This record gives sequence, C-alpha cells and structure tokens, in this order.
Amino acid sequence: MEESYILITGGAGYIGSHVNRLLNSKGFRTLVFDNFVTGHRRFVQWGQLVHGDLRDSAQVEELFNRYPIGSVMHFAAFAYVGESMASPAKYYRNNLLSTINLLDAMVRHGVDGLVFSSSCATYGQSTEIPIKEDHPQQPLNPYGQSKLMDEVIIKDYCRAYGLNAVALRYFNAAGAGIDAVIGEWHEPEPHLIPIVLDVALGKRQYVDIYGDDYSSPDGTCIRDYIHVQDIAEAHLKALLHLDKVKGWEVFNLGNGNGYSVRQVIAAAERVSGRAIASRVCERRPGDPVCLVGSSAKAREVLGWKPGFAEIDTIVETAWRWQTRLNELLKKPL
Ligand code: UDP
Repeated sequence: MEESYILITGGAGYIGSHVNRLLNSKGFRTLVFDNFVTGHRRFVQWGQLVHGDLRDSAQVEELFNRYPIGSVMHFAAFAYVGESMASPAKYYRNNLLSTINLLDAMVRHGVDGLVFSSSCATYGQSTEIPIKEDHPQQPLNPYGQSKLMDEVIIKDYCRAYGLNAVALRYFNAAGAGIDAVIGEWHEPEPHLIPIVLDVALGKRQYVDIYGDDYSSPDGTCIRDYIHVQDIAEAHLKALLHLDKVKGWEVFNLGNGNGYSVRQVIAAAERVSGRAIASRVCERRPGDPVCLVGSSAKAREVLGWKPGFAEIDTIVETAWRWQTRLNELLKKPL
C-alpha cells in the first residue's frame, strides 16, 4: 500500500508550520491543508500542500478521497482572544464547523488517529497554579469556548465512532525556529512578544499594556510562554503515542514558569539591547490574570521536556525571526 500521509490542517500557520517542518525532518510524509486566511504560503516549504477550506465539507471529502491519510493533526482555527470577544460568531462558526467536517471525513474514511490543537484558554480563571489537566474548564472568551466545545465534540466522536485523540492544551506559544526560517506572523499581530519586538525595531512607538491593576505582583497579567519548537516536539511525541490512546487523552504544554507583561518587556529590552516604550491602557476583555500550566503529565507519559525554559532564550529566537520578517516585509512578497 502507498505510504500514508499525516494530514496537517492549518499547516501554514505559526504552530502548524513548525510541526510540519519537524515531521518532515523525521521522515514523515505530510499533507498540509490550509485556506491561507491567516497562514502563509511561504511557511509551507516541506511536504505536500493542498489549498482548501475545512468549512467546505465537499473539499474535505475530496481531500480524503484523493490522498491516503494515516492520522490527522488539526491546527486550523481562528485563535485571537480579543477578536473572539468582538466577533464570537466568526469563532464559533469557523472553529466548530471546521472540526465537525474534519471529524466526519475521518469517520467516513476510517482514519482514527487525531492530535488536536487545544488551548489553556479553555481553563479560564485559574483556581490553582500550576494548572493541571483536570482543572475546571470555564473559558472567559469565545476563542477558549470554541476550543472547549471542539474538545467535547471530539470526545463524543471518540466514544461513538472509535476515534483516538490526543488534545494538547498549549499555554502561550512563543519564539521561532533558531534559524529564523519560519516564525510568528499574524496580520494584524495581537500577541505580546511580536508587538514588543516591533517597538524595539522602531515599527511601533510603544506597547499598550492591557491593564496594570490585576492581582499579580506588578499588576500585569501573567502567562506561561512555551517555545514553538518545544510544542512541535510534543506533537511528534503525541503522534507516536496515539496507538496507546484508547479514546481520548489530554496534555498541557507549558513551561511551568509565569512571566508578567512587564517582565516580557524587560526580557525584550535585554535581548534587543533597546529601550521599549510602553503605556498602560484598559484591560483587554476576556483576559484571565494568570495562566501557568503544569506539564507533569506530558513529561511523564510522553517523555516530553521543554528545551527552552528561560524567557530570554525564547525571546531571543523571536527577536531573530522578527528582525528577518521586518526585512522580508520590505521586499515585495
Ligand atoms: N498583552 C498586552 N499588550 C498587547 C498584547 C498582549 O498587554 O499589546 C497582554 C495580554 O493582555 C495578555 C498577555 O499580554 O495578558 C499575552 O497576550 P497574547 O495576546 O500574547 O496571548 P494570549 O494570552 O491572549 O493567548
């Protein structure tokens, strides 16, 4: 039989492209399916590419008819907390319909292994730090809700149709491959680290700090920044773990270290050697004060260990990429 593909939905996006690259470097045959709404064609430099949209069930069916697919990694989703508060319908329609169409095709074609891209945003306000996988899930924003609903749907499909799925709940993905070939590139960019680095590059005047009156030591929100390469390694381990999964299993992916917005700005100043201006503004609706994860389960069961623990080393890779992206954007793409 022809060797099957690992289907990577959203493989032109930030995390999907790093996973696609890693899998190819390990000899896997990958099939990227992306609509390029937020992804970038230039990020798909490895494997086979199909341009298409998961919201169109006929396109998904054609994809599964045309290619032998062994397992699926599902990244494709809208993923901005702030935007989801303003446009919940966009998030529910896209993130749920895409997942359902994908799962239906998997069931029809007898593809039973799934690695699902979930999020710490499904937890909402933490009652315990670090957050373990069994922490209550009460999302504070539609993005987190849509990922939680996806989890519920996938769990039900596992039970009813015999799928086996691993959900990986990422904390804050950050950084870039050390050779800066691919990295974080959103338009517009809502995420803290690239925004802060754009200030260092002189592309923005200052970074808006979304609230400094939270119940944290310096009043700004705390997040657990986890390097995108470490997240990619965890996907590979989850893929290899799939044949041991009976139904549904979930892992947090974080460093276990929390950094405030102000600490991230300070790290970026150290790494870039430049002063970074900031101004405090209103809180961003939907933001929990503190999200720090326990990845003890992923370490124990998957044998995963993040290679980038310090915020400075994470920001350093982001800085290298952001500098390159800045140059790339000056030329016609
Ligand atoms: N943040 C900020 N200013 C910005 C962007 C983000 O203060 O311009 C804060 C945001 O409120 C959150 C943290 O930085 O507390 C990380 O936000 P990001 O959007 O990077 O990731 P999220 O936690 O939303 O997934």
